[in-house]
Amino acid sequence: MRHTGPVRLLLVEDDRPLARVLERGLAEEGYAVDVVGTVLNAREQLTVHDYDLAVLDIGLPDGDGLDLCRTIRQRNVGLPILMLTARDGISDKVAGLDAGADDYLTKPFAYPELAARVRALLRRPKDANSPVLEVADVSLDPASHTVWRGAIMVPLTAREFSLLEYMMRHPSAVCSREQLLEHVWDANYDGLSNVVDVHIANVRRKLELPGEPDPIETVRGVGYRMVEGKKSR
Ligand code: CA
Repeated sequence: MRHTGPVRLLLVEDDRPLARVLERGLAEEGYAVDVVGTVLNAREQLTVHDYDLAVLDIGLPDGDGLDLCRTIRQRNVGLPILMLTARDGISDKVAGLDAGADDYLTKPFAYPELAARVRALLRRPKDANSPVLEVADVSLDPASHTVWRGAIMVPLTAREFSLLEYMMRHPSAVCSREQLLEHVWDANYDGLSNVVDVHIANVRRKLELPGEPDPIETVRGVGYRMVEGKKSR
């Protein structure tokens, strides 16, 4: 997926002075940074924005950064996650990596080290180790460019594939037509205004399975979303 606009980071850190230092540093490097101090606010931000990277503190006032990390991983396999841990214990590092973090940093650390880790994670190709995406009974393999509904392989065009991949990387989130145009076509696309709807209709038709619910829901006046419903098998 291409980057449009600035690289956007989510920083989840309840230590205000530390959060301010990190925010200032990262903003100076040109990143758009959103800072929150609780698991609740982090979850809210994650439904609003399409982040390129998340930095998570483990100890948060209303919960555990590890749980948050696991939730993010279930919804967005490709988002790079850097964990901040206060203890220099091996078990914390292992727990962080097991929860789906890509890297970790032990406090106290110097800002340049965090900046270097962030740069390294952003350089990593998004699909390098991305597993098969699954939403309900739809699976999509970014590596082999194949899609299945249950056990049936579904042939999609390159554009249809990109459209479905974008939506599956944001399951349960409503993807607006503008958002889909920007990410799947091009920010400057000025062709047919209903191009998104036409492609969605094609993807729907191809994914159709008799007796099974439509995995793509239309949210009137807003856009579309993948429905996480029960697996059909
Ligand atoms: Ca903390």
